[in-house]
Amino acid sequence: MTTRRNLMTGAAAVGGAAAIGGTGAVGYRAWRDREPASPPATDSGGRLLWRNWSGIQSAYPRDRAAPSTEDELATVLKTAPGPIRPVGAGHSFMPLVPTAGTLLTLDRMGGLFDHDPVALTARVSAGMRLGDLGPALAAIGQEMPNLPDINKQSIGGALGTATHGTGKGLKAIHGEVQSFRLATARGEILDCDADHHPEIFNAARVNLGAFGVVTQVVLKNRPLTRVHKRVVLRDLNDACDDWEHLKATNRNVEFYAIPFTGKAAVITANVTNAAVKPRGADTDSAVLMDLKRLRDLFGWSPHLRRWIAVQALGSTPPEDMVDEGWKLLSNERPVRFNEMEFHLPQEAQIPVLKEVVAAIEAHRNDVFFPIEVRTIEADDAWLSPFYQRPSGSVAVHAYYKDDYKFLFKLIEPIFRRHGGRPHWGKLNSLRAADFKALYPRWTDAMEVRASLDPDGRFLNAYLKKALIDAQQDV
Ligand SMILES: Cc1cc2nc3c(=O)[nH]c(=O)nc-3n(C[C@H](O)[C@H](O)[C@H](O)COP(=O)(O)OP(=O)(O)OC[C@H]3O[C@@H](n4cnc5c(N)ncnc54)[C@H](O)[C@@H]3O)c2cc1C
Repeated sequence: MTTRRNLMTGAAAVGGAAAIGGTGAVGYRAWRDREPASPPATDSGGRLLWRNWSGIQSAYPRDRAAPSTEDELATVLKTAPGPIRPVGAGHSFMPLVPTAGTLLTLDRMGGLFDHDPVALTARVSAGMRLGDLGPALAAIGQEMPNLPDINKQSIGGALGTATHGTGKGLKAIHGEVQSFRLATARGEILDCDADHHPEIFNAARVNLGAFGVVTQVVLKNRPLTRVHKRVVLRDLNDACDDWEHLKATNRNVEFYAIPFTGKAAVITANVTNAAVKPRGADTDSAVLMDLKRLRDLFGWSPHLRRWIAVQALGSTPPEDMVDEGWKLLSNERPVRFNEMEFHLPQEAQIPVLKEVVAAIEAHRNDVFFPIEVRTIEADDAWLSPFYQRPSGSVAVHAYYKDDYKFLFKLIEPIFRRHGGRPHWGKLNSLRAADFKALYPRWTDAMEVRASLDPDGRFLNAYLKKALIDAQQDV
């Protein structure tokens, strides 16, 4: 997000400013740094705890299944106690995975099975992590030109929630899926593509793990390239004004608006033949912690907070790196957070961002995480938030030790007023009736789901509310 030099300058400025912070500021910081309570490691029946990455979702599944073949998987699906919930890397913020029944992983079915060097396709296990897929594809001369902010997710999890990256004409990951294999609640294995089971192909390319278990996916890739990634710190208003131009002139582009600073980190990546210049060690986390220190000490004074930030960040030079895209497009994110992201009509994106920044700066001086702004091409998967709509996303983060409920009260209404569709894996309070109004093929998709899983074997409490009945209190 920003550079090491930026970090050092920032730390010095923040450290200097801390000297005039006073004891009241220290008290504020101490209040903020409470570790959230952790559920017990086992429940009263001795069942082991499962938790998601950020720690806000948890469960004590009765059974855990890790089949190594599709036959074993079929047996699990027919016999294991429900609800059966497939899990990838557990990086979703919504309660998609928690179950008191069976937690199912495809970790033992991982790998790249085969590829077509002419068509540039690769058949991979849905359990494979994006971080393993990058080097595996590079070894066969292929790449995914668009990757999410991290690469810890499984392919199955990415399809489950319509995981996306950012870039000109670049679709979310499911948008490049040519076919997939689906294991149903009855234990059947179905090959689905535009010609075979086309209604399942359309309904379940984005699936929330509610249609069955995806076992394999054929991805359409591109030839392996080297990219030049550049991070530039700019004034937030300039970045907003320049967004259309930035989108038109870069392959991958996004920016992070840094609240209470008037600044934005603009990140671009473009194909190049330049010599490799590897990325250095991760500095984003240290910068984040500097922003937190600034919040801790000067959250009470927006003017002082902004002034110090501008001194600290003002003369930051651009950061450049050159390498194969899979090494640069995703990042390490060791600082945990909770997140809400909505996908908006493109024309609404910048107005919404400005509204969100203004709301945070007016009402939530505890927020210090940058707000992420990305662009995603339209596709035709029925449950895709990008269904027939090129979209601009806005994502707001809350440090894992901080309150995140404000996202529902303050931020979500802004997104919804502008026709936003929520990221399926990130915080939102929508229910079936809301989704039905946002997705033109909702009813068709739900009919396909019900025909594949008539007994609701894949439905946990949240999915019943999100997919079936807005009024149902489960
Ligand atoms: C630090 C961080 C950064 C992130 N960055 C981005 C980003 O840049 N872009 C973005 O779009 N999202 C991002 N996300 C969200 C994340 O990509 C999604 O939540 C994604 O679904 C997580 O993948 P996972 O493998 O952890 O899936 P899980 O969270 O384990 O599961 C997600 C869903 O997929 C289902 N599922 C998993 N495997 C299968 C399968 N084989 N068959 C059927 N269903 C299955 C599950 O049942 C569940 O419904 C981020 C999350 C975190 C924590």
